Amino acid sequence: MKTTLAEYTVKEIIEGFVYNQLEGKGLHGLNGRLTIQPEYQRAFIYAEANREGGVIDSLLKGYPLGLIYFNVVGDLLEVLDGQQRITSIGRFVTGKFAIQDENGMEQFFHGLAKDQQDRILESKLLVYECEGAETEIKTWFKIINIAGIPLKEQELLNAVYSGPFVNAGKAVFSNSLNANKQKWSSYVKGTASRQDYWERALQWVTRGKQTVESYMSDHRASADITEVKTYFETVIDWASSTFLTIEDEMCGLEWGRLYETYHAKAYNVTDLDARVRELYGDPFVKNRRGIFEFMLGGEQDYKLLDVRVFDVSVSRPIYEKQTAEAKAAGKSNCPLCVMGPLNNQTKIWKFDEMDADHVTAWTKHGGTDPSNCQMLCKTHNRSKGNR
Ligand SMILES: [Zn+2]
Repeated sequence: MKTTLAEYTVKEIIEGFVYNQLEGKGLHGLNGRLTIQPEYQRAFIYAEANREGGVIDSLLKGYPLGLIYFNVVGDLLEVLDGQQRITSIGRFVTGKFAIQDENGMEQFFHGLAKDQQDRILESKLLVYECEGAETEIKTWFKIINIAGIPLKEQELLNAVYSGPFVNAGKAVFSNSLNANKQKWSSYVKGTASRQDYWERALQWVTRGKQTVESYMSDHRASADITEVKTYFETVIDWASSTFLTIEDEMCGLEWGRLYETYHAKAYNVTDLDARVRELYGDPFVKNRRGIFEFMLGGEQDYKLLDVRVFDVSVSRPIYEKQTAEAKAAGKSNCPLCVMGPLNNQTKIWKFDEMDADHVTAWTKHGGTDPSNCQMLCKTHNRSKGNR
């Protein structure tokens, strides 16, 4: 790979700059010679991250913006790294956003004093221009990963396996105008522009079969993303038709795995919803995110719920009452010891030798109030099990 160091002024770089509002990207610079967002670049995210103003502020203060990398493609150039910074500058100079001046006033470019405008336009940007084979450039692009906001794994994969398949995938899953985005956001964490939906869709369709990398490599030249799209929508539709009420805790669950494990089972969704509502109202359920898999699995794996044990403020008064009654009756304060071998039938256990127990097991829908709490000696509580 051949690299040359070059210097451009901001004025030169943004000559002919066009910002595409719909796609959220800067298109061209250097009077059409520079492609600002090649297909392997990520969508413009500085605006979301509120960093655009910082770029302009740096120019006004004469701070360096860091190295920028261009890829030389014949007579043309494309931005390899620095797209975010160039787009921020282009957007500011073309009046797309304002910065705050030292008095806290909003200032657009055209409202700045002439010397400040010139200062921005005459700022010099240091650029490494690289020439090499496509694979070499892309591999290297994966390595540099130097822009202010680190690339996410999926953004790197998009760069490495760029082509018709990634373009088609991004058109659906990375498109912030996609009408399904609202629905997806209830089940999948993240944002379209940072590739989170596209990443999850690929992970789900490949789960247990092959790696996302090899799948992207296999399909790289094809613009057909039907399999990914269909599977993703099938999982989401299954989740939304199984659990009727949308809860915050649903977002980010492993729906792909849950679908594979449970979709063949039939559920009465009305009953399911009613029981989910009950569990949501149960103060003893510490892990609400576990409710959904707990229900799908037929209420067997109560570890998923991380059921809370009785608080000492509940168990201590019950211990005192139970012990006083046992002493008066000349029996053990553990009701199970009373029925056990002779040597323990009258044993009075100390508080820390006993555990609070649900009289009716929690998993058998026993109440979670003090009336369902009894103290057992630790041995009997453990042997009772099935809590
Ligand atoms: Zn006992």
